[in-house]
Amino acid sequence: MGPSSGFRDECGVFGIADSEDAANIAYLGLYALQHRGQESAGIATLDEDRVLVEREMGYVADVFNEARLSRLPGRTAIGHVRYSTAGASLLANAQPIVFATGRGPLALAHNGNLVNAREIRRNLESSGALFTTTSDSEVILHLVARSKAPDLPSALAEALLEVHGAYSIVVLAREGIFAARDPNGIRPLSLGTREGSPVVASETCAFDLIGARFERDVEPGEIVRLSREGFSPRRFAVSHSTPCIFEHVYFARPDSKVFGRSVAATREAFGARLAREHPAQADVVVPVPDSGLYAALGFARESGLPFALGLVRNHCVGRTFIEPKQSIRHFGVKVKLNPVREVVEGKKIVLVDDSIVRGTTSRKIIQMLREAGVGEVHMRVSSPPTVASCHYGIDTPTRRELIGANQSVEEIRRFIDADSLGYLSPEGMLEAFGRPPQATCTACFTGVYPVEVPEEELEKEGAVSR
Ligand code: SF4
Repeated sequence: MGPSSGFRDECGVFGIADSEDAANIAYLGLYALQHRGQESAGIATLDEDRVLVEREMGYVADVFNEARLSRLPGRTAIGHVRYSTAGASLLANAQPIVFATGRGPLALAHNGNLVNAREIRRNLESSGALFTTTSDSEVILHLVARSKAPDLPSALAEALLEVHGAYSIVVLAREGIFAARDPNGIRPLSLGTREGSPVVASETCAFDLIGARFERDVEPGEIVRLSREGFSPRRFAVSHSTPCIFEHVYFARPDSKVFGRSVAATREAFGARLAREHPAQADVVVPVPDSGLYAALGFARESGLPFALGLVRNHCVGRTFIEPKQSIRHFGVKVKLNPVREVVEGKKIVLVDDSIVRGTTSRKIIQMLREAGVGEVHMRVSSPPTVASCHYGIDTPTRRELIGANQSVEEIRRFIDADSLGYLSPEGMLEAFGRPPQATCTACFTGVYPVEVPEEELEKEGAVSR
């Protein structure tokens, strides 16, 4: 599975306070978070009393060059990579969003999705507020700007208590950077230190690239100020931690530590549990790269079957790729994946992927494997069937398009043309994750939403909230 087959990455945020070359380090941090959003990238810096911003559609490395980074002086910077989840994919919606307020200029970068943004926006607009973007994140800055609280942290706390849903945000202000997570801590946000400068990032893989040390996660319901004085934490809400399990299934990078756990280790544990739940009579375990890699390793280890790379991924596929005019079978998938005939020919394989969204990608991969002479394909999926859409910042197809919501496992098996099909159970996934159901968001697998979602949205999905 991957971005093209249904689920798409959402956003990544980064910040560094009181550092030489702040914009350059933010650039590197965003580079490491590129997998979380490929549509736009932006950096804002604080120079004296001014906030400067550079944003553009495109990849981090294409958006920024030396000249552009040199237009971002200052010792404090925040950055954002975006895949639009709310608001159209327009340059106006690229972040950081910059806002002049009575408390000085503010810049905001947000990962997640606010479920009541529309309602708040309607209220604000009816009292005269002018919005410059269609992005849900802008309501936070409007609320901060309107707050009568005595200081910025209190105004921010007040604003955050009004918005509901998922938010891991960084706000750049004269006072430093404020990093905050929603009370459910749905999206990740980690703190680190680089040569004495405090840093914050969506994932710890950003710290590795810039040579920072991981300190701790921002707690759900916590605001932490990053400044010359280091970290100043403050709680604005009681924590009801329900982190997104899909970060571990697919979104986060395997070399990151997310919600206190190694992503690679969790994926291996999913695969091992899958092998116990759905063993297969096979010769070899083959991952769908890259998404099924670690789960396949876990499956192979647990089952005692050999592991082999029977599919190769072309990592250099750009978005400007032009498809040829004459039709070639399974072209879209072939550009990205190719079977290694010598590995799969005549073999019974266990094919491991992290999820099946619409089913079309799995079907094409299996067809390619059959054309390469595979013996049998036993498809194993390291998460349960996807039955509902995400309202917390992951761009999922509608319920109607999700094959797991509309067809039985046997019907899906027939559709993808596998010899057998097994999904990890919700209980198995949670056990491998090491968290109970009431302390985890599994809504896309169960339809049970930990943060109440507006009625009309839920009716569309046929789900309930808890
Ligand atoms: Fe994550 Fe799924 Fe919950 Fe969205 S619905 S936050 S993708 S577990």
